[in-house]
Amino acid sequence: MNKNIQWLNERRIEKTISNLEKNNIKGYYAKNNDELLNIIKDIAKEGEMVSVGGSMTLFETNIIDFLRSGRYNFLDRYEENLTPADMKEIYRKSFYADTYFSSVNAITEEGEIFNVDGNGNRVAAMLYGPDKVILIVGANKIVKNLDDAVNRNKSISGPANAKRLNTATPCAKVGYCMDCKSEDRICCEYTVIKRQRTAGRMHVIFVNDILGF
Ligand code: SF4
Repeated sequence: MNKNIQWLNERRIEKTISNLEKNNIKGYYAKNNDELLNIIKDIAKEGEMVSVGGSMTLFETNIIDFLRSGRYNFLDRYEENLTPADMKEIYRKSFYADTYFSSVNAITEEGEIFNVDGNGNRVAAMLYGPDKVILIVGANKIVKNLDDAVNRNKSISGPANAKRLNTATPCAKVGYCMDCKSEDRICCEYTVIKRQRTAGRMHVIFVNDILGF
């Protein structure tokens, strides 16, 4: 990454962490993968039951492999040959996980976490259930405000995820949101996390890279 862009990203990460902490959400900046893993190990203790929301970022940072290493009791939604009933069970069991891992669709410099789900299982577990939530976020997910977060979903997250999932939605063909009424619509539940009541529950770890959509 260009060093000037890297510097700019770091300033935005610092500002966002500062505002997250005013909202009772702990923020971190991991400069490399070792730092990322050390932060995670500090929060999620060995032997815990852990689960994940659907996330490309967790694959790109090798967190899925780390969770599969045997250190945790991992409710693995990505295991091969799971039936729809198996997936449903994992989604429901995830509410009892000690720690839940995910990324976000966008995070504002004001310290707000914005997500859009198709099933709702990911945002539901972020909102309530697991005692701890760890969100891993690339610098590309930081936006100025909630309007920009919504626009980010319409122009990037929505169409890119629809293409990835090969959904029968207009965005998967034209490359932008048409606010569809499709059976396959992946944008059904919109959530904004403005604040946590419980200190120490939600942790956001920033990585200065382009991760996920
Ligand atoms: S609302 Fe429909 S068209 Fe818009 S991004 Fe979501 S799935 Fe695509």
